Amino acid sequence: MDKKTVFTMYAGQHTIGGVIFTVTYGKDRVLMEFGSAYDPATAVFDAIVEPRDRNWIRDKLKVGILPKIDGIYRREDLGDFPLVSAEETDLNTAVFITHLHLDHMALMGTLSPEIPVYMHHNAQIIERALEATGCGIETLDREYRDITPFEPISVGEIKVLPILCRDTSYYDFAFLITTPDGTIHWTGDVILHSKQADKTIKQMELLKEKDIDVMLCDCTAFMDSVLKLMVPDLDEKKIMPNPAIPENMLSEEEYHEGLFESLKELKGLCVFNYYQREMDMAQDLMRWAEKLGRKCVFEPDAAYIVYKFFGVEPYVYIPDSPSVHREVGAPWRRELAEHSTVVSHEDICAEPSKYMLQNSYPHIMELFDLPNEGAGYIHADGIPIGAFDPAYANMRKIVDKAAFKYVTFFCENYFGHGYPQMVKYFVDEINPRVLIPCHSYNPERLLPKDGIQLIPESYKEYILENHVFSPRDQGGEK
Ligand SMILES: [Zn+2]
Repeated sequence: MDKKTVFTMYAGQHTIGGVIFTVTYGKDRVLMEFGSAYDPATAVFDAIVEPRDRNWIRDKLKVGILPKIDGIYRREDLGDFPLVSAEETDLNTAVFITHLHLDHMALMGTLSPEIPVYMHHNAQIIERALEATGCGIETLDREYRDITPFEPISVGEIKVLPILCRDTSYYDFAFLITTPDGTIHWTGDVILHSKQADKTIKQMELLKEKDIDVMLCDCTAFMDSVLKLMVPDLDEKKIMPNPAIPENMLSEEEYHEGLFESLKELKGLCVFNYYQREMDMAQDLMRWAEKLGRKCVFEPDAAYIVYKFFGVEPYVYIPDSPSVHREVGAPWRRELAEHSTVVSHEDICAEPSKYMLQNSYPHIMELFDLPNEGAGYIHADGIPIGAFDPAYANMRKIVDKAAFKYVTFFCENYFGHGYPQMVKYFVDEINPRVLIPCHSYNPERLLPKDGIQLIPESYKEYILENHVFSPRDQGGEK
């Protein structure tokens, strides 16, 4: 049999994240990412419906959360679900994770533990700490393999080059896949206005030299609400390539300066709700607290991640919560107790202006016992993230009732994914033969320069042969 490169996309064409695709060459296969698009409003497991114990993987297949891919799940997890199991397949598969966002890795715990999953060491530390505290992904007992920036990983005849996009927190990568037939590139989350944008520019320069056949590119910011800030009539032909930050938009640095200014204004207690895996944010919060002469205090589970990741001994506040009390004897709580300092409710009440206190949504009732004079509740991208989550309105209601000033990190002029003109510049410079815009509600708005735009059909096989990419039923023979 003549070997060919086969590409199949399973998810993520029209959603924010959840991009999943495979590249197969002969018996070798790479699976790119294993996350799920975040949409609490439509989730089957709505935090009330419980995942079952022995059936949790096949249930996810049945309701369509997991992609139906042969050779990646264990037979004991599949039961009689009609897929070839990991034990039965003759494919040699490896999985690659760009970074530790749920839309890129939430489902990786369902994969057969014999299939290698590559993820940066820092991401592994954070995931393990999350798992220890019960906040990790649902997962079988498994190991991860390290990614070293710019050190290619061979999966049989397929080569994967991890291109570094961010070297703090869990690290961020893009992946360049090379087979004997050509090149396929996946940007992961792409951002050109971050403090580390130089790395994305370097990625672009490297790809320009390589001659890219197929590129999958994140274009989250092409959705109506963000695009209209830069292109009011939403006409994609008016998205002109430009490496500069659009006039009315902020860089990551400007955005952070603005956040610090709003913290400075608070006279009383500062409570914050952040996303606990974001070690860059944890570091910023700790630095800001230090500058403002405040102590940065975390709830136990967040404190444990901070301790494991930075090796610092954090301040800890114990919320009055049955679940937090139940954990007291857990190994991670004992470990944390030895490496942290407890800040009591009395300490905070005595000098509220001396503290920045983390408060996660499950423990939001704590607000009613905390001093609220001149106090602020900083919504620093913690859960619930936005109005698309039904819990968001409830959070706002409780903050109002507790009479804390609501301060949001949400800013009209800032967005965490690449601004459209900058993404267009990145894509035009690389100028791939086939552009697959994805990770977006409006992928069709990212237009190629000279190549063709393709939104692949889910589960359809495309063949890459001698740098030509086409659907299997149009020329690509089986
Ligand atoms: Zn993403």
